[in-house]
Amino acid sequence: MFIDTHLHINRKEFNNESADVVNRAISAGVTRFMNVGYDIESSKYSVDLSARDKRFYAAVGVHPHDALLIASADEEINIENLNEIKKMAKGAVAIGEIGLDYFRDLSPRPAQRAAFSAQLELATELNMPVVLHIRDAYDEAIGVLEKTGLPPKRGIMHSFAGDMLAAEWAVENGFLLGIGGPVTYRNSKLFESVKLVGAENIVLETDAPWLPPVPHRGKRNEPSYLVHTAEHVAQLLELPLAELASVTATNFLDLIGASGE
Ligand SMILES: [Zn+2]
Repeated sequence: MFIDTHLHINRKEFNNESADVVNRAISAGVTRFMNVGYDIESSKYSVDLSARDKRFYAAVGVHPHDALLIASADEEINIENLNEIKKMAKGAVAIGEIGLDYFRDLSPRPAQRAAFSAQLELATELNMPVVLHIRDAYDEAIGVLEKTGLPPKRGIMHSFAGDMLAAEWAVENGFLLGIGGPVTYRNSKLFESVKLVGAENIVLETDAPWLPPVPHRGKRNEPSYLVHTAEHVAQLLELPLAELASVTATNFLDLIGASGE
């Protein structure tokens, strides 16, 4: 069994096709999913979906692109929205995706840092793992994590794209690397990190509808394509596919405290 630990089935790219998309995933052996929120509405979608479909886990949180929902540019926290995330967290297994995105810089950086820090504190308070979105900001994100304090349950560095030092930091501090489509791209810088950390520190994800693996580049991504990523990682690590599936699924289920299910 494979678990797609990061997707956004709520996106308009899936229109009314989500039932077909899920059925194709199941046929491909991808049987559990975590739908990840990035604002209030998508977080609510994740929780509602998880409540009515036990194959779906939910993560709730506000993405750095939408950081202004949680913190202003002068770092004033929007308590109402933060409380909304906290309430929804009762129906979720993780807080995310949260973090810093200095590549697209869609929100002021002070707001990104304050929103990230406030949601890290929430994860600590609720004793829940986090799903981190970090882009072009590994040093800064590690800085916020160290200053705020690491959430006791740690979490996943989703769509990991850091260097070897960031990978090393993640593993030494108990974080899992989320590996998706980009690992199948030619000359990916991820090869070294994946080999460094090994299967025991990895979870698999698609980030659908984005970041499709080879041979589906340029198309809409979907959870059934996780298998391409898995085959690639298994080859890199010289592991049988079934072993990679079971190790990475166990990593995820242990993280969210669902191993016995
Ligand atoms: Zn995402």
